[in-house]
Amino acid sequence: MASTKQARLDAIKQQIIDDQVTPELAKMATQLVFGDGNPEAELVFIGEAPGKNEDLQGLPFVGAAGKFLNDMLEMIGLRRKDVYITNIVKYRPPNNRDPLPEEKQAFMPYLESQLEVIQPVLTVTLGRHSLNCFMPELSISACHGQPKRLHGRVYLPLFHPAAALYNGAMRQTLIDDFALIPIIIKKIQSS
Ligand code: URA
Repeated sequence: MASTKQARLDAIKQQIIDDQVTPELAKMATQLVFGDGNPEAELVFIGEAPGKNEDLQGLPFVGAAGKFLNDMLEMIGLRRKDVYITNIVKYRPPNNRDPLPEEKQAFMPYLESQLEVIQPVLTVTLGRHSLNCFMPELSISACHGQPKRLHGRVYLPLFHPAAALYNGAMRQTLIDDFALIPIIIKKIQSS
C-alpha cells in the first residue's frame, strides 16, 4: 500500500537528521523545525528560517510574524490546519542572522521532496530568500503578488510578514497581495 503523505513527510524529516544536514546549525539549535499543517493542503507557505520562538517550539511561524500570518490566513477564510507551512532552512541560524547560501542550498533537496509529496496548487514564497531559492533572477519588490509558473508548479512571491509587520506601506501591500490567494488558486484549478 502506498504510504500516506504524512508518513512520507516524516521520512523526509528523519532523512535530514540521518544526513546530518548543516551540522553546525544543528549543534546550536534546540531542534529541527521541519514544517506544520496539513500534508493534503492546496496551499504551501515557505519562509526563510526558524527564529527564537520557532526553535523553542519546533514549529514554523509561531512568533510575531506567525501571528500576522495567522491573521492574514483568517482574512481569506483559512486556518493553519488548512495549509502547510515550512522554511527553506530548518534549523535556527545563530542570533537570527540571514541563512548562508550554502545553508539554503543544503536544504533545497529536502524542500523539493516536501513539495513533491504535498503537490500544492499554489506555493507562496515569503520574502526574498525564499523567492530567490526558486527564482534567483527575480526581485521581490518587482514581482510580489504576481504568480509565476516554473517546472509545472505555480509560485506566488510575497513580502515576508516579519519585514512587513512594522512597515505601514509594505504591510498593506502584503495584505493586498494575500487577498489575491483564493482568486489565484481558483484560476489555476479552472485552467
Ligand atoms: N521567519 C521565518 O522565515 N520563518 C519562521 O518560521 C519564523 C519567522
